[in-house]
Amino acid sequence: MKLVMMGPPGAGKGTQAERFAREHGVPKISTGEILREAVAAGTEMGKAVKAVMEHGGLVGDDLIIGIVRERLAQPDAQAGYVLDGFPRTVPQARVLDSVIDGSCPLVIVEIQVPDDELVRRVRLRRICARCGTAASAFGSVGTAVCRECGGALVQRSDDTEDVIRERLKVYWRETRPMIAYYHERPTYRVVNGALAPEKVRDALVTAVASAMGRDPGAQSA
Ligand SMILES: [Zn+2]
Repeated sequence: MKLVMMGPPGAGKGTQAERFAREHGVPKISTGEILREAVAAGTEMGKAVKAVMEHGGLVGDDLIIGIVRERLAQPDAQAGYVLDGFPRTVPQARVLDSVIDGSCPLVIVEIQVPDDELVRRVRLRRICARCGTAASAFGSVGTAVCRECGGALVQRSDDTEDVIRERLKVYWRETRPMIAYYHERPTYRVVNGALAPEKVRDALVTAVASAMGRDPGAQSA
C-alpha cells in the first residue's frame, strides 16, 4: 500500500488520508508534519529547515526530498504509507519513483472538487471564537454556537473568496505538471471530492483497490 494523495486546499484530503492510513494500518506521512517534527527534534535537517523558515523562505526540493527519504526509511513505513503533501513537484515525484521498490505499485489518487464548491465550503466554514474548534461545512454550520464550549462561531479572517482563489491558483500552478507526470499510469485514479465525506471515503477505498487490481470487498480481509 503506497498511496500518494493529491487534492486542492479544502478538498478534505488530509482527513481522508488520515482515515485511510488508520484503516489500513500504515502511517500517514505529511510533509508539513515531518518538517515541524524535524525542526522540533533539532536534527541536522531540522536545523536547515528552521533556518529557511526563519527567513521566510520556501523549503527547497533537496531539503524536502532528504527529509522524506529519511522518513520513508523508518521501520513503520516498510509495509506502506499514505503521502499527504508530497510529492509537490515533478523532481520530488521522480525521486519518489526511484526510492520505491517494485514489490508494490505506487497508487496516485487525485481528489477533485470544483473551485466554486471549494469557495462555497470556505465561505461556510466557521471557527469558535473561544476555543478554536472548527465547525465542518457538512455538520455544524448553521448552528449559532460551538458544540464544544457554546462559544460564538465566527469566520476566520483569511477565509475569504480572494484568499481561497489565490490558494487554488497556486495549487493548480504546482499541481498541473504533477498530473501530467502521473496521469498516464495504470495506477492513477480520480475521486469525486464534492460528495459527502463518507462517500468520498468509500470512493477512495474502491479507487485504490481497483488501482491495485483488487476487489474492494476483499481488501479488508
Ligand atoms: Zn468552542
